[in-house]
This record gives sequence, C-alpha cells and structure tokens, in this order.
Amino acid sequence: MTTHILLVEDNALLRRSLAFNLERAGYRVTTAVNAENALAFSHRDPPDLVLLDIGLPGMDGLDALPHFRDQVGAPVIFLTGRRRQLDEALGLELGADDYITKPFDENVLLARIKAVLRRAKRAAAPTAAPEETPLIVGDLVIDPAAHIVRLNQEIITLSPREFALLHALALDAGRVVSVDNILARVWGAEYEGQPQVVYVHIRWLREKLEKNPNQPQRIITVRGVGYRLQSGERS
Ligand code: CA
Repeated sequence: MTTHILLVEDNALLRRSLAFNLERAGYRVTTAVNAENALAFSHRDPPDLVLLDIGLPGMDGLDALPHFRDQVGAPVIFLTGRRRQLDEALGLELGADDYITKPFDENVLLARIKAVLRRAKRAAAPTAAPEETPLIVGDLVIDPAAHIVRLNQEIITLSPREFALLHALALDAGRVVSVDNILARVWGAEYEGQPQVVYVHIRWLREKLEKNPNQPQRIITVRGVGYRLQSGERS
C-alpha cells in the first residue's frame, strides 16, 4: 500500500512544489491549507505521516500537534519558518517526531520522512530485543520496556528522545560515548554533523537528573570527545 502523507501548509507555492516532489518520490499526498481542514481530512483518510507547518492561519501547528497525536496517531514532522519557531517548538517538548527548518533541501526532507516512518514501523512492531532489559546505573533504573526512568525510586518523566539518549549512555555506563556515536544511535544518520541537538538534550537531561545541572555529577562532559554516564558510587 502506498504511504500516505498529509501536508499541512498555507503557503500555496511551497504546498504545490512539496506535494509534487513527494508524489514523484512515490508517496500519496493529500494537502490542507489549515489544521482544522487537515484534522477533518485525517478522519476520513488517515495519513501515515503528517508534515505540519507551525505558522498556520487559525489553529497553529503547535496547538494542532496533540490532536494529530491523539486522534490520528500518525507521526508528525514540523515544518518551521523561523529559527525562533523551532526553539519554541523544541522548548515546549511537544514530542513531534522531527523538525525541519525552511528553506530546506528536499532530499533532506525525504531522508527525514523515511527515518520517521522507519521508526514508527519499528515502534509498532512488538519485538522484545535484548535492549529491553532494565538497566541499573547507580541509583538510576532505566526500563526500556515500560519506558520508565527511576531516580532513587522516584519516576522521572522524559521525552522519547531524552529517554533514548539516556538509554544509549547507560548501555555504555562508565565509558565515554562520542557525540557522533550518540547522533547515529539516537537520531540516525540524517543528523550527522548536527551536534547541537545532542547538546540541547543533554542539557534537558541534566535539568531532570542532576542536583545542580551546572555542575553535573552524573552526565559528565569529556571535552572534545563526548559524554560519560557515571557508573557506580559518586563522590
Ligand atoms: Ca505558514
């Protein structure tokens, strides 16, 4: 069955050229000029993935995201017009599956779409991989099966990406994991050369896990290399 992409974009020129290129890449594309129409279309013809512009007339993309999540259940990639919009979206931690800033290279977008669809498929497949075993690192318990992190018995709420990042560090607890390695494992090859997403998520993790995020005792920066999750007793 052809993968169905719903494109929500109010800029007519961008909407047409994107739809054209996505169809040429083999996708079935439906388009909407605003979030309200897009949600209505989604009920009749559910998409496999939503490309959602943030700056929309009426309900904006940030407000629309939870509706797509809860009612449609499809992964969402945000299209953002401005750097500030991207920061806002990241800051809200709404849990979009990816973000891309305009103007973007269409090949980059296609690669991101493929990666998000691949992840969505993997998440839907009920396989118990070896990495589903809970990891215990000092007073941290990371349980991938339940998607729960406990710190001294207390449950810490992490976004999916923060969770994946902490899990990657925990698999190599006590050893340095390079930023490139983290990017490849947690974000995928499409993010090669974009270390800033790692820096931002490390900061968020520290805010949730460290007593003093400015003097981390748990997630240690190894300058010029990467990060190390402290394994056992901390001084
Ligand atoms: Ca717009």
